[in-house]
Amino acid sequence: MLNHLTISELTARLARREVSARDATQSCLDQIARVDGRIHAFLSHDAADALAQAEAADQRIANGETGPLLGVPIAMKDVLAVKDQPLNCASKILGKFISPYDATVVEKLKAAGAVVFGRLNMDEFAMGSSTENSAFVTTRNPWDVTRIPGGSSGGSAAAVAADEAFATLGSDTGGSIRQPAALCGCVGLKPTYGRVSRYGLVAFASSLDQIGPFTKDVRDAATLLNVLSGRDERDSTSVPEPVPDYTAALDGNIKGLKLGLPREYLVGGLDPQVNAAVQTAIRQLEKLGAELVEISLPHTDYAVATYYIIATAEASANLARFDGIRYGARVNGTDPIELYSKTRGAGFGAEVKRRIILGTYVLSSGYHDAYYLRAQKVRTLIRQDFLRAFEKVDAIVTPTTPTAAFKAGEKSDDPMQMYLSDIFTISCNLAGIPGLSLPCGFTSGGDAKLPIGLQLLGKPFGEETILKIAHAYEQSTAWHREKPPLPG
Ligand code: GLN
Repeated sequence: MLNHLTISELTARLARREVSARDATQSCLDQIARVDGRIHAFLSHDAADALAQAEAADQRIANGETGPLLGVPIAMKDVLAVKDQPLNCASKILGKFISPYDATVVEKLKAAGAVVFGRLNMDEFAMGSSTENSAFVTTRNPWDVTRIPGGSSGGSAAAVAADEAFATLGSDTGGSIRQPAALCGCVGLKPTYGRVSRYGLVAFASSLDQIGPFTKDVRDAATLLNVLSGRDERDSTSVPEPVPDYTAALDGNIKGLKLGLPREYLVGGLDPQVNAAVQTAIRQLEKLGAELVEISLPHTDYAVATYYIIATAEASANLARFDGIRYGARVNGTDPIELYSKTRGAGFGAEVKRRIILGTYVLSSGYHDAYYLRAQKVRTLIRQDFLRAFEKVDAIVTPTTPTAAFKAGEKSDDPMQMYLSDIFTISCNLAGIPGLSLPCGFTSGGDAKLPIGLQLLGKPFGEETILKIAHAYEQSTAWHREKPPLPG
């Protein structure tokens, strides 16, 4: 079936005119109709608009144009602005808000001829690790619908795993691309901070947020990064660093590359099956010619605490704009203060309120130096750990998550347990470096076969290297070809 293809397989067929962009789009819409009632990856989608975009792409193909994303259906996390489409961040507070403009990444995808469709479920304002914090619905893991897909970009990961889209975009502040990619068995890439413009991404924690792709294989991730990357005048944190051709780096040869194994990542709480799969993957990388080097990232223990101070502080400021005046839903009051507090009281969910309160506290006078300022200093130490390690190694290999997908409801009453599921992904955002997760095996023996993810961390702007390593590994294994037990 068409929707099972990767992007490179689809575009080859489009170029040969064996299939049309309309066929490809229709195959995604059919799959959504078939499975999304169980998966709930999508909050909404506009089929007529998607088909109209597909027909425009077919017109371009008929005129002799080809392109790596021309006619490819790609779905968006509900935190990315798409002109004339709903933008809710899976929150009630945005009401019936419709985006008046395109995010830069959306503009780039549309210019490349991609069919940009659908609004993908997520944790409210990207705060969470399971999509259970969505104000609307919990997305289910395509491998076992009693389990969560990870988060916060759970809809983005589930939609790719369930072949409801050829690729999706998500955002990653502390693991929200890599963690759900690992739990759903797809490839997820968080680029270096500044690599991709954040213009049109609703901000959670501005110094940590990055946009990135979910794909079915590593080549497709490289293809998307080629299109998404680059300096944008509208995001002053995007950098003018040249954009290489990331697909050109995928030559399969990783001989002599040095891979760092951080000793601090062999923590208690790491599931034995996850550990076994990751160890086997590391041996495989060694067989492919990589050299393994033990390294130390001594400040790892402080990463989760540091993140939850910085991320909540920034969130408390970023979310101040949702006050019932300018955007979305409003609950009226007798004076402005009452209006704000009633609107925010009714509009935000429990986790978002928890973060705003924590963030306000760590920034308040008297506590600012003890928490926020100290966290910034520790953040610098964490970044220095990585930069020091990268003097000796080309990339770092770790598990993406401590366990495979957990059951819905298992951690939702215990925020600390939920926060710990990000233990391996958070440091990467604090350090601003790129990170990629790809499938490296499955659990066995339990009540379900669940995907396991391998994480590769790179030097700042070292995406080429981690894509190259990931591609070499992927091509020597068959994990990425496995499909979840779904109809279609
Ligand atoms: N799970 C983390 C959090 O809840 C990371 C979320 C993200 O990357 N957006 O903050």
